[in-house]
Amino acid sequence: MGFLQGKRALITGIASQRSIANGIAEAMHREGAELAFTYQNDKLKSRVEDAASKLGGGPAYPLDVTDDAQIVALFDGLGKHWPDGFDILVHAIAYAPREAIAGGFLDGLTRENFAMAHDISAYSLAALAKGARPLMQGRQGAILTLSYLGAERALQSYNVMGVAKAALEASVRYLALNLGPEGIRVNAISAGPIKTLAASGIGGFRKILGHVESNSPIRRTVTIEDVGNAAAFLCSDLASGITGEVTYVDGGYNILGMTGLDEGE
Ligand code: NAD
Repeated sequence: MGFLQGKRALITGIASQRSIANGIAEAMHREGAELAFTYQNDKLKSRVEDAASKLGGGPAYPLDVTDDAQIVALFDGLGKHWPDGFDILVHAIAYAPREAIAGGFLDGLTRENFAMAHDISAYSLAALAKGARPLMQGRQGAILTLSYLGAERALQSYNVMGVAKAALEASVRYLALNLGPEGIRVNAISAGPIKTLAASGIGGFRKILGHVESNSPIRRTVTIEDVGNAAAFLCSDLASGITGEVTYVDGGYNILGMTGLDEGE
């Protein structure tokens, strides 16, 4: 029996087979969770429905997080599908206009780009937590989001997305504080770089992958399976004492002081 047997999970953020959310859904399905899904737009609907059919056949709901009405409709629909509630919310959503995540921090910076990155990548976690809250009461559930090292270190090209991820990680701590008494834990995984649709928008991403592969303690980049397994654990009762944390699934890259030197140099 899997360690998520009897749990119900809402998975957002699948855009392709390479999506981190897909790795999380696969691990949660393997561990026995019942899944429901969201898709951002009609273009992605059939892809998400295909993924859903391979992972237990749960429903897929439209969700563009910039539209409050869609957030309301999502939890209305989910409340009908799971009338006595659900246990796990996976938030795997981020966006910044391409010109804002290439070049220098100020090059693609506009009020609109800054607001959009924060709205879609940070505010949406709190908005979804607010919508999910009534359906997650008293079930020892968990909310999980995805962050990146650029939240706390200045990384070339990550720019406004790093600022939005800092807001996201702070939101994790505030949500953990306020939802803990209701039996809901809230955590983030800070994943190492993985080639996905979202990541391909980041300037110099191929170079980042190569650098991490050569320098991280495990000498490889992480996979969506690595992140999926950690996510399944953090959202399970095995992690019942963990909340408000940012857990690194990055092959140890974040612990490094200086990179590029070999042992003995
Ligand atoms: P992805 O492109 O597969 O997923 C990003 C998802 O965000 C897509 O499913 C897209 O539909 C969704 N999205 C964007 N705008 C949206 C909106 N307005 N409404 C609803 N959904 C919207 O890429 P991914 O790398 O799997 O990204 C998932 C999460 O992981 C993101 O938060 C990303 O920042 C984070 N992350 C990625 C990496 C990496 O290297 N790939 C590393 C650390 C963290």
